[in-house]
Amino acid sequence: MTIKIHKGVYDRMIAHAKSGYPNEACGILAGKPKGPAGVFYPMRNADESPISYFMDPREQLGVFKKMREAGLEMKGIFHSHVASAAYPSQKDVRLAFYPEASAVIVSLSDLKKPVVCSFKIDRETVTEEKIEIV
Ligand SMILES: [Zn+2]
Repeated sequence: MTIKIHKGVYDRMIAHAKSGYPNEACGILAGKPKGPAGVFYPMRNADESPISYFMDPREQLGVFKKMREAGLEMKGIFHSHVASAAYPSQKDVRLAFYPEASAVIVSLSDLKKPVVCSFKIDRETVTEEKIEIV
């Protein structure tokens, strides 16, 4: 399994993670069917917490509407970890409601060297996938 992410989206994701620091940041990756994740929607972390994130449901609906209008599908859900590794927490696994979308996690535990990893989470099963920057 591989997720293809546009270079600009990849960079914006890391910038958004840093701008949310010391709290977790989140957002949605979208793209044309069969295309790479070419669009990034930064979102507010309604939890405003360093250990969890929550997307405001109204903001999320707004993004879903924009995606629909642009003919895009959700490729991934992004969030950051500020102190732990780029691996889904138990809560991330429990709250993964979109098995077809990738869970992209940016770890800022070393601020100078962000680590980005991507996973598919289907029920309780976490599978890491390759990230290809295009
Ligand atoms: Zn997490």
